[in-house]
Amino acid sequence: MEKNKIEGGTLYLVATPIGNLADLSARAIKVLNEVDFIAAEDTRVTAKLLSHINAVKPMISYHEHNAHECGEIIAKRLSKGESCALVTDAGTPAISDPGEDIVRLCADRDINVTSVPGPCAAICALTLSGLNSGRFVFEGFVDGTGTQRAERLGLLKSEKRTLIFYAAPHKIQSTLKELAEIFGNRKIAICRELTKLNEEIIRTDLLSASVLYNDKKPRGEYVLVVEGSSDNDSFWSGMTISEHTDFYIEAGMPKMDAVKAAAKDRGVAKNVIYKALLKSKDHNGSL
Ligand code: SAM
Repeated sequence: MEKNKIEGGTLYLVATPIGNLADLSARAIKVLNEVDFIAAEDTRVTAKLLSHINAVKPMISYHEHNAHECGEIIAKRLSKGESCALVTDAGTPAISDPGEDIVRLCADRDINVTSVPGPCAAICALTLSGLNSGRFVFEGFVDGTGTQRAERLGLLKSEKRTLIFYAAPHKIQSTLKELAEIFGNRKIAICRELTKLNEEIIRTDLLSASVLYNDKKPRGEYVLVVEGSSDNDSFWSGMTISEHTDFYIEAGMPKMDAVKAAAKDRGVAKNVIYKALLKSKDHNGSL
């Protein structure tokens, strides 16, 4: 039996399109039209969505900076029997977006919460990645200082499940480089502008990806889906490229042979290793 009637005293988490308005579900349209009010991350963004479906509805702003006060206001209205739809700028509320606090508050107060599921960039990217989608980890944005990011990625290095990251375009180059340095070479799907006109999925490996994005200017929105650590990781899989080449040099190989050996291990062309070494800050640049 379907859940179709709008119920009073209920918070509806409504997923909205991540780039293609046609992805707004029929149920989302019904809920947005029929609830008493909408709590929106950015009321200007949601006003455009409402105008697309010819809906006029009172809105209040609910975002990460007012979640506490506004959450109280929403919870009180819900307790009095009103219905509310929570929407963010794009995608599923509470996934790297406002939502979890108000859900927790409602749960604490026995207020009914339900979901109107729909687009989510992470799931969309995972399913398109061609990587193992049976078991996965969503890591959201990797923020913080270089050291904090390195620590966080270091903790994930031995994670066997497929990893999903969100990344702002200006962080793509550095994130790919950090991922390659910390994880070693692994498969990656770079999922860009999902559901939009310029949707692009690049299925490659971390090393080639970081070299590619040395020259390619990142544009639009990105999800990075990275293969998990494999059981039969090679000896070099946790090494940076310079550590990997240094390993051979220290074992007595001439530098050029060390580059050749590292390239062979990683299944990439020699110039991929050269370029990565030249870019690598921790390398002494003596090639
Ligand atoms: N709640 C949203 C969801 O369900 O996907 C995510 C919101 S988060 C603030 C925004 C990030 O999601 C972007 O920086 C990007 O990493 C990812 N994203 C959103 N839309 C996307 C799209 N159309 N293509 C690729 N990535 C997207």
